[in-house]
This record gives sequence, structure tokens and C-alpha cells, in this order.
Amino acid sequence: MTVDSKLDMLLSRGREYEDELINFLSGFIQVKSVNPPGDVREAAEYVQSFLSKWGLQSRWIEPKEGVVTIYSNVGGEDYIMLNGHMDVVPEGDHSRWTYPPYSGKIVDGYVYGRGASDMKGGLSALIFAYAVFTNVFDKFDRGVSLAAVGDEEVGGQYGSLYIAEELGIKPNYVLLGEPSTLNYYNIGEKGIVWYRVKVVGEPAHASVSPYAGDNAILKAGEVIKEIYKLSEIDFEPPGDIRDIAIQSGLKAKELLGLDGIEKIFFRLSCNVGLINGGVKTNVVAPECTIDFDMRIPHAITVDDVLKLVGEKLSKFDGVSIEKISGHDPNYTNPETPLAKVIEESAYEEMGYKPKPSLVMGATDGRHFRLKGCDAVVYGPGEWSRIHGFDERIEINDVKRAFRVYLRILYRMLKP
Ligand SMILES: [Zn+2]
Repeated sequence: MTVDSKLDMLLSRGREYEDELINFLSGFIQVKSVNPPGDVREAAEYVQSFLSKWGLQSRWIEPKEGVVTIYSNVGGEDYIMLNGHMDVVPEGDHSRWTYPPYSGKIVDGYVYGRGASDMKGGLSALIFAYAVFTNVFDKFDRGVSLAAVGDEEVGGQYGSLYIAEELGIKPNYVLLGEPSTLNYYNIGEKGIVWYRVKVVGEPAHASVSPYAGDNAILKAGEVIKEIYKLSEIDFEPPGDIRDIAIQSGLKAKELLGLDGIEKIFFRLSCNVGLINGGVKTNVVAPECTIDFDMRIPHAITVDDVLKLVGEKLSKFDGVSIEKISGHDPNYTNPETPLAKVIEESAYEEMGYKPKPSLVMGATDGRHFRLKGCDAVVYGPGEWSRIHGFDERIEINDVKRAFRVYLRILYRMLKP
């Protein structure tokens, strides 16, 4: 058999299951897996029973009660892993949804419901690609796996991080089906740091303020202004992703229409999200804490950011800083063979090549990158409604992603 006829056979088998794929997705949305609380057992059963119908073994991994990963592998040690999360964010006010959020309703070429785009759509396409590929070919030299994880929406400690770190599963390549849209694939993401600034003042009676005492809330206001100045500094990303950072900024501007947002991949974002201070209205505030969220460009690390903040604060008395959590920015070499395979596979399916990009938010990709794996995000989805009301996904996009995934597996695994 020639190479092409093998691929044709794979694709034509795939076409037989496209409608079933959409029904699977609709059913998947109906199986609740909201995070918090993050209990995905029902969704995990749904995935596992599908796999067993296809004769595929899978492991039930539950490091924390209710937080499950379904992991399945064929052909030996993971060369490429298909990875997607089953958990979804809460649906919010039901009355603001046109269709009930867990209906999985199919209307006018879309599947509606919480998780349709983020990311039960992409995950369903990955699951079907895995099942069909391993069913059509029983001989390929390299291992392929599927990991349907939980915990992603709260950081992935008991999901992807657990399988990468505790189980030591370290694929050469990880393809994540998060909604990059089919026009882009993501090779990297900004870092993040959360920290708390504690401001200490001197209490006094309100009636003698501002002559007496040192008001911590007032001082916190000055501190906030000073820290916000850090978001005006330009940082230079490494040469191999500089152009991608520029393009990603332009894409953000196009999507969000915000003035200045095109610099977002060269700069720190800055948000003071929580403030807590004072003891009573008639007392000069003796203490105040302020919590910050900053997203870090691909030029500096968490430690660099904390150092910069420390320098800004050095002119204030009684101010200290404490890290809450964070991780460094990360990216996969844009020359990774997986990126080229995504471009070529998508081109064959859609007639154009998706472009590399960076993203502002975090995905599970970082857990694998930090272990040295090449992790790339490519998946279907409608960006504007993610985490919002009337989340939905276009049926054609799910089917297209499924066909592209089949082609990617074919190229990567050379059956
Ligand atoms: Zn997601």
C-alpha cells in the first residue's frame, strides 16, 4: 500500500464517525464536571466507557478524591500524548443562557453548553482521533497516549502536573486541544505571579489625622501607583520568538480592540485585585494588605518580577512583599517538528496554515514544557464566549479539528 492510500483509508474511516463525534460531544457536555468543586468522575466514566467500547485499555488515576485522569496508551512509551481537560468553569446565572448550560443542545450547526469550546469540543476530537487511529493501524513504532485530565481550571496540580511529575510520564510531544482556534497554534504562554504587599502604618485617633499617625491605606494607594509603573516597561523576548510575540500582540488587538494591548507580550500586566486594611472608621489605619496578579513576558522570571517590585517599594517605610504563587513564562521551540506537522496537516485539510502564537493565560502545556517536552496547543473553539454565557462550538470546526488530528497522528507516528 502506498503512503497516501494508507492515509486515505484513515480519513475515510474517520468520516464514518463524524456524526457520532458530535453526539459524543453533546453527551459529554451533559455530564457535569464543574470546577470548583472539580469532581470529574462522571465525565471520566463517560470517557472510559467510550474507550472500552473501542477495546482500549485505560487507567483511572485519582490522586485527590473526584479529580480523575483517564490515561490510555498504545504502542509503548509515549512519543506523543493527546491531552485535554474535562473540567469546566461554573455556568453562572442560568437565566442568561438561551439554552440550559448542560443541555448540549445542537442548533444551526453549533453545539451549545458549558465546556463546548473550553474544551470538551477539542477533547472529543482528540478522543475520536485516538480511537480511530489506533483502531485502523495496529502497527506503529512509537507510542501514542490520550490523557483526559481534571483540575486544569484551577492549575492542574492533580491533573497534568501530577501525571508529568508524580507518574513521570514524559512524552516527546504533547498536543493539547485547548481552543487556539484553527487559525493559530500556541507554542507558549506568559508566566504569572501572585504576591501580597503588606503595608504597616501607625494608628492614631481619626480626629487628629492627618497630623498624627501614619495611615497604611493611604500609603497603600501610593504603593499601588508605584507598582503599576512596572507595566510600562518594555522587555525584549528571546530572538526565536520575537516575531511571534509581535504577531500575537497584533492578534490580541484585533480580537479585543484595546488600545496598547499589542504590547502585552513585551510587558507585564498588572492588577491589584484585593485590598484589606484598617480596623475602624475612626482609627488611622495601622495595616493594609494588597494582592497583585502580574502576567510575565518571555524575557523575565517570577524572581525578576519580585525583585523589580522590591526595588519600587524600597522608598517606602514599613512595606514588605510575600509571594503567593507563580510560574515562569514558557515556550516550546517554534521549530519543533510538531509545529510543522500541525501546519502541514491543517493546510491539507483547510487550505491554509495556522500561525504560531503566544497566549496571555496559562494552559496545562506548561507542566510538560517544564519537564522538557515539546507542548503545542491546537484546537477548535469560539473565543468570544469562553467562560461566558451561551458558550458554543461550531460543528464543522470540531469535525475539521478531528480530521487534522488524524493527519497529525499519521505524520507523527508513521504507521
Ligand atoms: Zn481550557
